[in-house]
Amino acid sequence: MNLEPVIGIEIHVQLDTKTKAWCDCELKVNGFENNYVCEVCSAQPGTLPVVNKKAVEYALRLGLATNCSINEVSFYDRKNYFYPDLPKGYQITQYKTPICENGEIEILKEDGESTKKIRLERIQLEEDTGKSTHYGDYSLINLNRAGTPLVEIVTRPDFVNAKEVTNFLKKVQAILVYLGVSKANLQDGNMRCDVNLSLKEVGSEVFGTRTEVKNLNSYRSVERAIAYEMIRQKETLEKGEKVLQQTLLFDVESGKNKVLRTKSDADDYRYFPEPDLLPLIVEENQIETIKKSMPELPDAKKNRFVSEYSIPMYDAEVLCSDKELANYFEQCCKLDKNYKKISNWILSELLKYVNESKTEISKIKLSPKHLVDIVNLVDSGKISGKIAKEIFVEVYDSGKLASEIVKEKGLEQNSNSDELETLVQELINSNPKEVEELKNGRDRMMGFFVGQVMKKTGGKANPKMTTDLVKKLLGLK
Ligand code: ADP
Ligand code: ZN
Ligand code: MG
Repeated sequence: MNLEPVIGIEIHVQLDTKTKAWCDCELKVNGFENNYVCEVCSAQPGTLPVVNKKAVEYALRLGLATNCSINEVSFYDRKNYFYPDLPKGYQITQYKTPICENGEIEILKEDGESTKKIRLERIQLEEDTGKSTHYGDYSLINLNRAGTPLVEIVTRPDFVNAKEVTNFLKKVQAILVYLGVSKANLQDGNMRCDVNLSLKEVGSEVFGTRTEVKNLNSYRSVERAIAYEMIRQKETLEKGEKVLQQTLLFDVESGKNKVLRTKSDADDYRYFPEPDLLPLIVEENQIETIKKSMPELPDAKKNRFVSEYSIPMYDAEVLCSDKELANYFEQCCKLDKNYKKISNWILSELLKYVNESKTEISKIKLSPKHLVDIVNLVDSGKISGKIAKEIFVEVYDSGKLASEIVKEKGLEQNSNSDELETLVQELINSNPKEVEELKNGRDRMMGFFVGQVMKKTGGKANPKMTTDLVKKLLGLK
């Protein structure tokens, strides 16, 4: 069978408001257990919810940033189910008419160059549950998180592989952080992702039965869960069996998706309109005010970087995926015009150390001034690229300028042609066989000579100059 995947995702995002969705409890999920709870969010009889205006504003900001149409009137609904960490016995959410619909987000495809648009079906306002922690034969419940304002983003089934999904998650994360509406961190649970996946015959318009993998909390888990599910469904179909519509949980230990529940038909949550909240009305002037306060968003910044600094789309995409990183790049560009080289050093070296040390860009010792200093040292031929990479880590750890380290340790590239010429001549005299091969057109032998000179100078010889000297002394073109 020639099968291809169809993937759609749902993302739950905790909004970074001061207080909860329906009460004025402070939002402090990690505070002392059950200390940020009141009559409303612990569901005492007779209490009533009051809408948090900021949460509505945040959902609108996200909707406008993703080209959604905004519903002037939308409604809150009750989704009924029983679970110990849901004291009301229902979740307040939006069902038939959410606040935002029909948006789109542009992402990079798997090739890292072309882009595509992922359609958003809806963005709805809802609330988080409390948190149960299970120990041996008992469980504890913490209601600090109960009533945290969430938005749920639902995409159309537009993804065809795992890379597109993770690129999408990174883009959503960037947009949320640029807008200042969420910390949007998968690892910390500010953002949680469910993946819906089915397989269909290549070219067919008819979708297969899908499964849903719940609560993935890292890019790695998203990738692994998709890979596992593709193989599992393919094997099932090739055996002539049917894929069951199931809700699954990814198990990080085994790398397998385990069945949480099988949907008999659709889950029956007995949705009905929330009688304690009025319809949500969004006024035209509120939208205008929000539009005026919109920051430059990741895609706009990316396109500006491409045109203003002439760097490749891929570089701009990575730089703009993190607001702090984009600012860092621009600060470097104010100090020096070698934009592409600045970008290269950031993408290859800087990000490697930042990711390894799990530090925020704003807190590292290697400032834009330090980075530009390194770029200049290499560009002016003072040090070789190899030496630059070696001292990069020292600059990163100590916050010392590379130019100081170079001076202290005498690491300047040897561009003294007399000295180099003597060295090259010696090598030519003592390696007649290699000289012969080089003369006979074995260009690879040039690497031998440059390598030997590097060895003798501790990596400090100027490689371009060395190559030229070998050619000159042997009378080669
Ligand atoms: P439900 O009504 O159960 O919430 P939806 O139709 O709203 O289901 O879809 C939920 C998610 O599943 C969406 O992200 C959607 O894109 C995705 N989806 C729907 N049908 C399929 C399918 N056949 N294969 C893969 N994903 C699907
Ligand atoms: Zn409360
Ligand atoms: Mg749905």
